[in-house]
Amino acid sequence: MDKRKPEWVPEASSDHFATNVIRGGRADASRSKGHSPSRKTWNIDDIESGLITGNRTMLAKAITIIESNSPKDFETGQELLKRLLPRSGNSIRIGITGVPGAGKSTFIETFGLYLIGLGKKVAVLAVDPSSSISKGSILGDKTRMAGLSSHESSFIRPSPSGGVLGGVARKTREAMILCEAAGFDVIIVETVGVGQSETAVRSMVDFFLLMQIARAGDELQGIKKGIIELSDLIVVNKADGDNVLAAEKAAGEYNHVLHMLRQATQDWDTKAVTCSALYASKIEEIWDIINEFVELTTENGAFLKRRSSQVTAWFETLLHEALLAKFYQDRKICELLPKLKLEVESGQAPVVYAVTKLLKEYYSGIVDDLPQASQ
Ligand code: GDP
Repeated sequence: MDKRKPEWVPEASSDHFATNVIRGGRADASRSKGHSPSRKTWNIDDIESGLITGNRTMLAKAITIIESNSPKDFETGQELLKRLLPRSGNSIRIGITGVPGAGKSTFIETFGLYLIGLGKKVAVLAVDPSSSISKGSILGDKTRMAGLSSHESSFIRPSPSGGVLGGVARKTREAMILCEAAGFDVIIVETVGVGQSETAVRSMVDFFLLMQIARAGDELQGIKKGIIELSDLIVVNKADGDNVLAAEKAAGEYNHVLHMLRQATQDWDTKAVTCSALYASKIEEIWDIINEFVELTTENGAFLKRRSSQVTAWFETLLHEALLAKFYQDRKICELLPKLKLEVESGQAPVVYAVTKLLKEYYSGIVDDLPQASQ
């Protein structure tokens, strides 16, 4: 692609025209000020056009922009998402959770390569809000998926680091949209089966897979019923060598329990199966189950219904969070709130009075009609 810039820009220029016009004799001067020619700054059009042709470097660049906390990048990132959203949605989004050591990376490597063999393009993302603190299990770690990461039909991105779960999940969700726009048709989102992150991942995927291993005698201990109820499939991994029988027994026990639990997805009976990620056994069966799921949920409408309720819930959550943040960061509120709280606690002020006073203070000069504190 010819990346040269035009030598002039019309007065009513759009973004499609370059803004960096290099005047004669100045190019070297700018370089001598420390502008390395290799550190090219891409404009949004370059990124958009590169990304939609499946260019992985441009995809990575776009994700870096949406992960950035700078206000300027935030605007560019949202503009990119707006442009690319119509190209998203054409993938199967699969969430994978399981305790560290269950074999998630090994499974994703084997499963991903199997899918690529079928002609798919596979993206692997991760949600791990603890990664920046513990530096423990780095999800979406390329070194643990060596074969997959070197394949041109794959794209692997570790969890965005830093920040609270909500922020990490937002960035992964947006990265998923970008991957879809770049033509990836299977998106795998990995998370660890501890804490709240599996709920966040469940709320962004179509199919949720819980990876387990057989542990002598205590298969059902230590795993919360809640996580099983989120799952569309339980895979007991490491069913190889001496471990085959124990894995099958564990899968049997899960199947027994699953009958008594709530369905994660309308009309879909979650089941437990075994596999060996290391020896690539029963991988095809798992893909068949996922296809069966997509077929059934497409037919009964649950697939699209889930996608639309996920996006609505995400919208509402972000709106609530943004409004709350704006309120609590307001200078007047920061001054008044602690005082009123004390008055309420010591019985000097009625609660509704205090809340109404805060809202009045916040909205004064913004709107005429005040919202009621409570009804
Ligand atoms: P993760 O923490 O869930 O991502 O787990 P890993 O994929 O890193 O696997 C943890 C360990 O289990 C590694 O030593 C793997 O080689 C091993 N492992 C993973 N899958 C299998 C399997 O199917 N069979 C056996 N025997 N070992 C496995």
